[in-house]
Amino acid sequence: MAGKQQVVIAHRGASGYLPEHTLAAKVLAHEMGADFIEQDVVLTRDCEAIVLHDIYLDTVTNVVDVFPGRSRSDGRYYAIDFSLAEIRQLRVNERVDLETGQAVYPQRFPVGHSVFYIPTLAEEIELIQGLNKSRNRNVGIYPEIKSPAWHRGEGKDISQIVLDILDRHGYRGSDDNIFLQCFDADESRRLRGEFKTRLKLVQLIGDNQWNEAPTDFDQLRTAQGLAGVAEYAQAIGPGLNHLFDGMDATGKPIASTLVKSAHELGLKVHPYTMRVEEVPTFVGSFDHLLRYLFDEAQVDGIFTDFPDRAVSLLGERR
Ligand code: CA
Repeated sequence: MAGKQQVVIAHRGASGYLPEHTLAAKVLAHEMGADFIEQDVVLTRDCEAIVLHDIYLDTVTNVVDVFPGRSRSDGRYYAIDFSLAEIRQLRVNERVDLETGQAVYPQRFPVGHSVFYIPTLAEEIELIQGLNKSRNRNVGIYPEIKSPAWHRGEGKDISQIVLDILDRHGYRGSDDNIFLQCFDADESRRLRGEFKTRLKLVQLIGDNQWNEAPTDFDQLRTAQGLAGVAEYAQAIGPGLNHLFDGMDATGKPIASTLVKSAHELGLKVHPYTMRVEEVPTFVGSFDHLLRYLFDEAQVDGIFTDFPDRAVSLLGERR
């Protein structure tokens, strides 16, 4: 059962090699053979859907230099306070830690080198569909609706806007090559219930202390919680840590029941995020981590910043 059913999701593109969510990072992911390429989606002031991980612009762009004084009282620069025309003026850089001003991953692409821009969701879909045509491939998209409750508080319905864009680009059925993901379980239910979307849905699972969504993720991971998820979703996206319940006396990880419980409900499992810089000590190396996930944990796919490594490993058996 290993092999073809297991997919590689390029997390923010091939973000281990190029700044996240740039079209360059998406081209590289396509070339590396990822099965899906991820888009995080937030809205601009003029309700344009752009591909950006945070609701903030300041960790991955030069917004502080281009638009000084446009932060909110918390000092942050919010994408939703800028028009698309303004965001077009920004350059994207490798992610930096706002406290230190240093790269979050110092071994990656140099901060401030070359030139990259924030794409709209539509532009990125056109890129991937264009490459699918010119390279005779069928790479899927994997958009995430970011912070829907927060967007609603700002007076915008991000789900409606994203679904409209997806529909215009041919993504509307359960067989279309897309997974649509969200952390907010109420919003996921709304996508299936109110919007009646037929797209495959992924319920992301976070940790409650992140305050990522008004969702009780501890409850979601219980048998009862997962059964509820299975009413509207086709997959779950747990954190890597959710696959383990500590270690045994020899230092080997003890698998949690999450994958097994999800599979019994017909839910696929796509854990995040595999990075060469963040390999758990018990597995020793990145390749060992990938082998553990695909062979022992039996996951159905992984989010990774290094899609080439996972494609290479799976390629041996595809
Ligand atoms: Ca994401």
